[in-house]
Amino acid sequence: MSLFEVICKNCGSVSVKLKPVVYPKGGQHVEATCKDCQSQAFIPQNQDADEFLMPFGKYRGNTILEVCQRDPRYASWLLESGAAKNKMAELVASTLEALKAGQNVGSSQ
Ligand SMILES: [Zn+2]
Repeated sequence: MSLFEVICKNCGSVSVKLKPVVYPKGGQHVEATCKDCQSQAFIPQNQDADEFLMPFGKYRGNTILEVCQRDPRYASWLLESGAAKNKMAELVASTLEALKAGQNVGSSQ
């Protein structure tokens, strides 16, 4: 099952404060602010390793699964450096472990 989440494009954090904004002339949107870096650029994400897109870095736009398969050292670095946070860190860690154990990862294959 995949859940929907909002991820910071700048740092990958999911610590995002959502605030509904209603315009005086009508209409509304939701303003999202990253609690970690105060950035306001976000992408919506599903939480499976084969759906979660890297929000930053040289593999931006690739899924977590692809990054772990192509460049496990980079994936490990994401964890060690703290660049991957929260849900993203959990996904990277569990995907690396599953790949090491030779398991099939993801739902698309
Ligand atoms: Zn951020």
